[in-house]
Amino acid sequence: MSGPVLTLSGGVGGAKLVLGLSKILDGDDLVVACNTGDDFDHFGLRICPDIDSVLYALSGLSNQQRGWGRRDETWTFMSAIQDLKGPDWFNLGDGDLATHVLRSEFLRQGQSLNAVTAGLATRFGITANICPMTDDPVATVVQTPAGDLAFQHYFVREQCQPCVTGFRFDGIARARPNSQVIAALRADPKAIIIAPSNPYVSVDPILHIPGMLDSIKGANAPIVAVSPIVGGQAIKGPAAKMMSELGKDVSVLGIAQHYRDILDGLVIDHQDAHLAAEIESMGMRVHVAQTLMTNLETRVVLAQATLDFASEIAQ
Ligand code: GDP
Repeated sequence: MSGPVLTLSGGVGGAKLVLGLSKILDGDDLVVACNTGDDFDHFGLRICPDIDSVLYALSGLSNQQRGWGRRDETWTFMSAIQDLKGPDWFNLGDGDLATHVLRSEFLRQGQSLNAVTAGLATRFGITANICPMTDDPVATVVQTPAGDLAFQHYFVREQCQPCVTGFRFDGIARARPNSQVIAALRADPKAIIIAPSNPYVSVDPILHIPGMLDSIKGANAPIVAVSPIVGGQAIKGPAAKMMSELGKDVSVLGIAQHYRDILDGLVIDHQDAHLAAEIESMGMRVHVAQTLMTNLETRVVLAQATLDFASEIAQ
């Protein structure tokens, strides 16, 4: 197991752990497969929220207070849009806008999303290998009793208010897994880590790309997740609300159930330690840790604990 560590990540929660991992692993030793099911076109620009959360986190540009976007952001563009009575439901800071403009321009010139992402990462001074899960378009659709909603309409415009009955990933049947992610899986990876991201709308799109799950299971590396649910609640975002609406157990047990076919181990918080034996009875190992990543130090400590847990499992 001399290969890299592959991490599957969504946006904000995933990026926190990825930042911790990036302080421990050098350059190409960290490969990150980012969800692109949230990607969409707005004002003619291609916006990739999860990739950008990872890029901003690793370049030190992310806004820690707000939890999304860039720090020291200005909003001249948005206020001009408002003056012109344009659609203002999706906030785009001026610095953030530059990322989307450049990405869209490179895509228009014919570069793949993988190449564009690698190029942006280099411009941001990032050495880890940040990859979109696929170069092909995949669009997460949220199913509700009132009908289907495009992911950003559900997440941002409707503020996650509608009740969720299920999800669909349009385009997934034709999506090919990112070649660098597959190369990492074939390069004897040290570990495959599922970051504490939303299981339904951040991690499932990655796992549902044809061939991805088989390659992950076939990699002969320990597969370890960090629970995004702590003490029966999501730290941020709709994961717990979705679990409840889907009739799942809103706890680390629900997370273990969701991933039970692939996980060798699950990292849970001290608050949930009493559920460890029940999770182990599902056929996976459990590591109890402080999983609230409130600052850089807690990100690095959790990343190291997750890597150590994976190597323990591998022995
Ligand atoms: P999104 O795509 O921006 O919604 O972000 P993700 O899917 O990557 O992350 C959302 C999940 O991250 C939520 O379910 C949160 O509970 C989880 N999360 C956020 N911060 C933390 C943290 O500090 N610790 C843990 N364990 N989970 C977190």
